[in-house]
Amino acid sequence: MIIVMKTGASESQIREVIRRIEELGYQAHIIEGAQRTVIGAVGDERGKDRLQSLEVMPGVDTVVPILQPFKLASREVKGGKSIVRVGDLEIGGPAVVVMAGPCSVESEAQMLQTAQAVKAAGATVLRGGAFKPRTSPYAFQGLAEEGLKFLDAARAATGLKIITEVVNPMDVELVAAYADILQIGARNVQNFALLKRAGEVGKPVLLKRGMATTIKEFLMAAEYILSEGNYNVALCERGIRTFETSTRFTLDLSAVPVLNKLTHLPVIVDPSHGTGHWDYVAPMAKASVACGADGLLIEVHPTPETAQSDGLQSLKLTKFQQLMDELRPIALAVGRRL
Ligand code: PEP
Ligand code: MN
Repeated sequence: MIIVMKTGASESQIREVIRRIEELGYQAHIIEGAQRTVIGAVGDERGKDRLQSLEVMPGVDTVVPILQPFKLASREVKGGKSIVRVGDLEIGGPAVVVMAGPCSVESEAQMLQTAQAVKAAGATVLRGGAFKPRTSPYAFQGLAEEGLKFLDAARAATGLKIITEVVNPMDVELVAAYADILQIGARNVQNFALLKRAGEVGKPVLLKRGMATTIKEFLMAAEYILSEGNYNVALCERGIRTFETSTRFTLDLSAVPVLNKLTHLPVIVDPSHGTGHWDYVAPMAKASVACGADGLLIEVHPTPETAQSDGLQSLKLTKFQQLMDELRPIALAVGRRL
C-alpha cells in the first residue's frame, strides 16, 4: 500500500503513521516526493486491507494499493523518476551518464590511460571488473583487491567515479570500500544473498538484467535491494538470449520505455555486452539515448586486441571519443545532455 500524506503534513503526523504501519506488522519506507511525502507499507499481501484504516489518521490524504508485485520499485510509489546520487553525480537527472572502461582491470597503466581518455571524451564514471564472473573456470578471473587498488589510483588521478562488479556476497564490504557504484552482473541478478548484502551496505548499485530475466523478475530483483532500505539503485539492460546468433545477445531496447513506464529507477543501457561486437556498439548507444536511457555502460580498451576479456566488443579510445561527439546532438534532441 502507498500512504500518501497531505502537502504540509507534519513530522509528527508522519512518525505516527510509520508507528502504526509497523504496529500492523509492515515495513515502512519513506519516499520524499517533490510535493509531498509518501510512505510505502510493504509486507505480507494478506491482510493488507487493514492498512486502509490509516486513511483516517491526521495528515493522511489517501491510502492506495500498489498493484504491481514490485512495490518500492514501482512507478506508482514515486509518481515520477528517481535520481540516484553518487557524490556530486546524478544518475537519472538531465545529463545522460556515461560509464566507460575495460571489461577487466588488467594493470595500473591500462586503467590510468583509459581513465584519462574516457574523461577527456566526457565520461564521468570509470568501469572495470576486478572480480570477473567468467563462464569458464579456466578463464581470467580478475585481479581481485589489486584490481580495486588500480581503480582507486585511476579515480585519484582523474576524479572519475568508479563502478566495479561484486560477485560474492562475502566480498560486498571489500568492494564497497573502493567502489562508488557496486555492479551486480547479469549472472547474479537473482542471487538473493548478494542482493540483500548490497542492500545492507547502502552504496549505489547498478543491477544488470539477466540474460533470461523478464522485466518483472528484474524489477523483483531490484526490490530485494530496495527492501533493505537502499534506494540508490539503477537498472541496466545488457541484452537477452534469443534465437539470434549474429549478435552475442539481443539488446532489448524496448525494455527502456517499458522500464520507464513501470519503475522510477534510472535505466542504463550496455550496448557492449548487448551486441558483443565493437562495430555495433555506437549505433546501439545512439539508439539507447534516443529511446530514453539515463546512461550508458560502454567497454573501452587502449588495445582491444590484447584485452583479457571482451576485446571484440571493446571500443578503442579514439572510437569512444568519436562516439561521445556523435551522442551529444542526439541527447539534445531528446531534451538531455551528455
Ligand atoms: C561486465 O560488465 O563486464 C559483465 C560481466 O557484464 P554482464 O554481467 O552484463 O555479462
Ligand atoms: Mn565484459
